[in-house]
Amino acid sequence: MADIIQLLPDNIANQIAAGEVIQRPGSAVKELLENAVDAGATEIQLIVAESGKSLIQVIDNGRGMSDLDARMSFERHATSKIRDINDLFHIRTMGFRGEALASIAAVAQVELKTKRREDAAGIYLEIENSVVKKQEPVATADGTCITMKNLFFNIPARRNFLKSNAAELRHIIDEFTRVAMAFPDIFFSLTCNGQQVYHLERGSLKQRIVQLMGNSLNARLVAVSEQTDYLNITGFAGKPETAKKTRGEQYFFVNNRFIKSAYLNHAVMNAYQDLIPADSFPLYVLFIELDPAQIDVNVHPTKQEIKFEDEKIVYAFVQAAVKHALAQFSITPTLDFDLDPSIQQLEAVSQPVTDTRRTAVSASPIYQSFTRKFQAHAIGPETNSGAYFSQESYPGMKAMPEQPEAITDNFRNVLSAPLELAQQAQHQLAQVLNTYIVAETNKGFMLIHQQHAHERVLYERYQQASRLKPVAVQRNLFPVTVELNPADAVLLQELSADLLLMGYHLEPFGKDTFVIQGTPADIEQGHEKQVIETILEQVKHFSNGVTLSKREKLIRSLAAQHAIKPGTSLGQKEMTALVEALFNCMQPNVTASGQPTFISFKQDYLTQLFKR
Ligand code: ADP
Ligand code: MG
Repeated sequence: MADIIQLLPDNIANQIAAGEVIQRPGSAVKELLENAVDAGATEIQLIVAESGKSLIQVIDNGRGMSDLDARMSFERHATSKIRDINDLFHIRTMGFRGEALASIAAVAQVELKTKRREDAAGIYLEIENSVVKKQEPVATADGTCITMKNLFFNIPARRNFLKSNAAELRHIIDEFTRVAMAFPDIFFSLTCNGQQVYHLERGSLKQRIVQLMGNSLNARLVAVSEQTDYLNITGFAGKPETAKKTRGEQYFFVNNRFIKSAYLNHAVMNAYQDLIPADSFPLYVLFIELDPAQIDVNVHPTKQEIKFEDEKIVYAFVQAAVKHALAQFSITPTLDFDLDPSIQQLEAVSQPVTDTRRTAVSASPIYQSFTRKFQAHAIGPETNSGAYFSQESYPGMKAMPEQPEAITDNFRNVLSAPLELAQQAQHQLAQVLNTYIVAETNKGFMLIHQQHAHERVLYERYQQASRLKPVAVQRNLFPVTVELNPADAVLLQELSADLLLMGYHLEPFGKDTFVIQGTPADIEQGHEKQVIETILEQVKHFSNGVTLSKREKLIRSLAAQHAIKPGTSLGQKEMTALVEALFNCMQPNVTASGQPTFISFKQDYLTQLFKR
C-alpha cells in the first residue's frame, strides 16, 4: 500500500480555522480515540494515569501507519482524510483537520509505535516539543499505540490551569463514553491508575448503553427507529420511569459524531410531555443520520454544536420518532411512573395540598426545623426567641419613636441595636394562599414569601456549616443507595465532604454507587435520593452568567430544595419561627439568587391606594 498522508496546501490550511485543539486531557483523549476509530480498529484500549495529566495511552488494532506516514502524521495539517476543501462537506470520518497529533506533539512527550499488517516490522518514534528525538524499527502488534506523557510539561501555565484530578477524569470519562456509545461494535476499555473502569465487549447498541449506564436499564429502554429519505433516526429512549433529576444521560449523535443541541433536546422533551414530572430529564441515546451535505460543517471538530440545513425538519422528525416509540411501548393506559415510588414522592411534592396531606406534612420534622433552627441562634430560653423580630414589627412597637423608612432598614437597625427585650404577647401572623405570611409592622404590613424566606434562612445556615459546626446528621434506618454513571460518581465524590457538613452522609459502595447513610436531622427522610440527583444536576448545569464554586451551587441547590414550598399550610409557631429566623439573617431581604423574600406595604402607600 502506498503512503497516504499529504500536507494540506496553505490555502486550505488557512481556510480551516485554527484553534486550540488540546485544552485538557479530555480533548487529547477524544482526538486519540477518534483516530483509532478512523483507523478501522475493532479493539481500543484507553489507559490514563493521574487523570491524564501524567499519562494518556491509546492502543488500537487498526490499520497502522507506514514509516513515512508515522513521521508525517505529526506535521501540522497532515491528514489522510481530506484533500480538498469540498471534502469538508462530505466528511464521514471523525477527525479531519490534521491538527490533533501535531498539537499533541507540541504539548506533551509522545511515543508512537505503529505497524501495518503488511509490514514485517513497525516503527517507533519519540517526539518532544514537536521534535523527533528517536526513530527506530520496532517489533510490535498490528495497529497503533500512542503514549502521551506529562501533558503541558512545557507550558506550566496551562498545566496549572487544569482542574482537580476528579474534574479532569470526569471530562475523560465523558469523552470516552461518547465515543464508546457511538461504536458498540468496537471493543473499548478504560483503565485509570491501573484499575479497569470499563470493559465494553462488542455488542448491540442496547447492550452498550446498558454496559455504560447500568443494568437496571435493560428492560426500561424503548427502541426508536424511523427511516425516511431525508434522514434516519435510530436509538433508544428511556421509559418515563427512567427520567431523572439529572440530565446527564442524553446523547445525540449526528452521523455518529456526538453533538450537543438544546434545540433537539427540546424536541425530545416535547415528546415526553405529560409522561414525566416537570424538571426531570428523560434518558435517550439517538443517532441521526443524514447526508453530510445537509449539515453546515463546522471546521472545528472540537466544537460539539452543528447546524442543520433545515433545523425544523430535524426537530419535527426527532419529536415524532420519540413520541411514536413511547406510544408503542406504553401498553397500559396508566403511565409507568405511577408505580415508581421515587416519582410518586416527587409528585407529592408538587401536587396541590389536600387536607390529609397538610396534616401529615405539618407534623413532619421539616417544620420543626424552623423552631430548631431558631433555637440554635437563640441566646436564652425559648421565651427570648421572639426578641429580634418583635422589637419593631409587632403592634407593641407602634408607640416607638420615628422609624427609618424601609422595613429592611428597620430590621437592620434592630439587629445592630442593643436588644431591649420587650415582653409582649405573641402577635398573630396570618398565612395567605398557603404561600405568604402577613406580618404587621410599625408602618403597615409586610407580605413574606414563605419559600423564599426559608430559602434564605437555610442558605445562611448551610453557608455557615463548617467542620466545627456541621448540620446534625440523622442516621438512616433504611439507607438508600444511589447508582450513578461514572462521571456523576466522580462529581458526587468531590462534593461528599461538603455534603457531610450539610447533613448528608454518603459512603461509596462499590463501583459508582453510594449509600446515603444519614440525612440532615431536621429534614424529613425519604427524598434524599432525589435531593442528591437534583444537586448533581444543578452543580453541573446551574448558570446565571456568574461563575459559582461547586460548594456555592451545592448550598443554593440544597436551600432551594429544602425550603418549604408554596401550598404548605403553616401554624402560628412555624410562621413565627420562620419570620424570626429570616430577620436573624445577615441579608434577609433576598434569596441567594436575588428573589425578594418579602414586600412591605407602608401606610402612606395604602392611603394613596384608597385615594384618601
Ligand atoms: P486527522 O485525524 O484530522 O487526519 P490527526 O492529527 O488526528 O489528523 O492525524 C493525522 C493522521 O495520522 C491521520 O489522518 C491518520 O492518517 C494518521 N493516524 C493518526 N492516528 C492514527 C491511528 N491510530 N492509526 C492509524 N493512523 C493514524
Ligand atoms: Mg484525528
